[in-house]
Amino acid sequence: MDEAKAPLRIIAHDQFCVEKKSQPCGFVIYGASGDLSHRKLFPALYELFKNSLLPAAFFVIGFARKPWSETEFRQEVAGTLGSSEDEAQKAGEFLERVFYCQGDYDSSEDFGRLAGMLRDLHERFKTRGNMIHYLATPAEVYQMIVAGIGKAGLTPHNTAEGPWSNVIIEKPFGADLVSATALQHAISEHLREEQIYRIDHYMGKETVQNILMFRFTNSIFEPVWNHQHIDHIQITMAETLGVEHRAGYYDCAGALRDMFQNHMFQLMSLVAMEPPQGFDPQLYRDEKVRLARSLRPIPEDRLDEFVVRGQYGPGKVDGIDTAAYRNEAGIRPDSNTETFVAMKLFVDNWRWAGVPFYLRSGKRMARQTTEIAVVFKSIPHSIFPQISANQFSPNVLIFRIQPDEGISLSFEAKHPGPKLCMATLKLEFNYKDIFREEPMEAYERLILDCTQGDQTLFVRQDMIEGTWGFLGKIINRWEAGPGEGLVPYPAGSWGPEASRMLIEKDDRRWIGE
Ligand code: NDP
Repeated sequence: MDEAKAPLRIIAHDQFCVEKKSQPCGFVIYGASGDLSHRKLFPALYELFKNSLLPAAFFVIGFARKPWSETEFRQEVAGTLGSSEDEAQKAGEFLERVFYCQGDYDSSEDFGRLAGMLRDLHERFKTRGNMIHYLATPAEVYQMIVAGIGKAGLTPHNTAEGPWSNVIIEKPFGADLVSATALQHAISEHLREEQIYRIDHYMGKETVQNILMFRFTNSIFEPVWNHQHIDHIQITMAETLGVEHRAGYYDCAGALRDMFQNHMFQLMSLVAMEPPQGFDPQLYRDEKVRLARSLRPIPEDRLDEFVVRGQYGPGKVDGIDTAAYRNEAGIRPDSNTETFVAMKLFVDNWRWAGVPFYLRSGKRMARQTTEIAVVFKSIPHSIFPQISANQFSPNVLIFRIQPDEGISLSFEAKHPGPKLCMATLKLEFNYKDIFREEPMEAYERLILDCTQGDQTLFVRQDMIEGTWGFLGKIINRWEAGPGEGLVPYPAGSWGPEASRMLIEKDDRRWIGE
C-alpha cells in the first residue's frame, strides 16, 4: 500500500513473542499416496524443514497400499514440494529423510514391518523413539490403523521422559454422534486423549487464531461483546468451487457434515466463547465445549424456521457456465446431498441471550469468502430531527478469514461540507499490507504444534460430541425422507431464496453480497 495515500497509518510493533521448541520425532503418514498428502502434508513438512522449524532430528515414512519403491515414492514426493532450482540442495536433503512402507491396514505383518523400519530410523536419525502418526486416509480405515499401530507397539503412552507418540486424525471424526462415539471408544483402547490430535485445519489459520488475540488482548471490545451492544453475528463460508476431486466423500457427507460440524462451529466458538482463564490447551478447550453445550436446540417440528438446505443447479460462476451438482463427475444423478446450509442459532447464556447467530456455507457461490460479521446495535436515539436513529448504519466489525485476510470496523462520520451529510467509513487492517509477509500455511502450523505436544488448536472429544449432538436432530430429519427440505439455487448465486428470507424476516440482511 502507498502509505501516503493510506487513510490510516497503522504501526505494527512486535511487542513480545513466545516461541516453543519442536522435539525430535519420526512421522508416519498413512494414506501417503492420497490427495491431502500430496497437496498439503508433504509441502507443509518441506516448508517447515526449509525454514528450520522442524527439529534437525526427523524423518518421514509414507505408508500406503500402492506398490511403489522408495525411489518412486521419493519422486512422487519431490513433485509435490514446489521447490525452485536453487532450492534443489534443500529439497534433496529433505528427500533423504523420506521413506516408503507399502502395506495393508488389516495386516499385522505389515504393521510389524513398519515397526521394524521405525526402530531402524529412530536409531539412524536420533529421534529418541518419538512418533507422529498422521491418519490421512478415508475415515473408514481410521479405526483399523489405530488398532494396527496399537497392537504393533507404536502408540506408547506419553510420559515426561519419553518416548511419546501422537496421532493426528483428519476430519471427519465420525458421521454423527453414534459413529463419533464408537470411533472414540475403539481408538481409546490404544490411545489416551493427550495423544489424540483431531485436526480442523481452519484452526491453523492465522486469521482464525487472531480472533482470540483480538478479543482477549484489547480491552476496548470486551465490554461491548454481549447482548447489550451486539445485535447479531453472521458467519459466511462461501466457496466458488464445486466438489472437485472429492465427489465420493462429499456426496455422502454434504455441507452440514463437511463444514458445520467442524469449521463453522470452531469459528463460532472463537467469537462467542468466554475468556479462558489462561492460554492452556485444557482451559481453552473447556470454554469451547461450554459454548457448544449452550447452543439452544433447534425445535424439530420447526426446523424450516431455523435451517435452510440447498443444492446448486446449473449457473455461471465467474462468468463460466457451470453444471448442476447432480451432473458433476462422481455425483449420483438423483443425489439429495445438500451443497448449502444456512442456519439461525441462539446461545443460551448470560452474554448472548437473544442474539441470533446467522451461519451459512455453500459451494458454487457467487464469491469465495470466509468472514465473520459482528453487527452492533443501532443507536438508541437520533439527535438530528431530520434523521431517525435507524437511518444510521450500525457499526460492523468484520473478521476476514480468507481471502484478503484482515479486519474492518465501519463507523459513521460527517461528510465534509456545509450540509449535514453522514457517511459510513471503514477502519481497515489488511495482514499483507501491514506485516508484509505471507501467513504460515494452516497445516504447517498444526503439524508444528503437534511436534511440540501442544493440543490447543486441536479438537477435544467432548467438543466433537457436543457439535454432533447438536446437529443430530437436523441429520435425522433430513435422513428420514429423500430430499427433505432441499431447495435449489443457481450456481454462482448466494444460495437459495429461503436463505435470504431466513435473515430478512428478522429485518436484517446478509452482509457482503
Ligand atoms: P484420498 O481419497 O486421496 O485417500 C488417501 C489414500 O488412502 C489413497 O491414496 C489410498 O491410498 C488410501 N485409500 C483410499 N481408500 C481406501 C480404503 N478404502 N482403504 C484403505 N486405504 C484407502 O483421501 P484424501 O487424501 O483426499 O483425504 C484423506 C483424509 O483427509 C480424508 O479423511 C479426508 O476426509 C481428509 N481431508 C482431506 C482434505 C483434502 O483436501 N483432500 C481436506 C480435509 C480433510 P492407497 O490405495 O495407496 O493405499
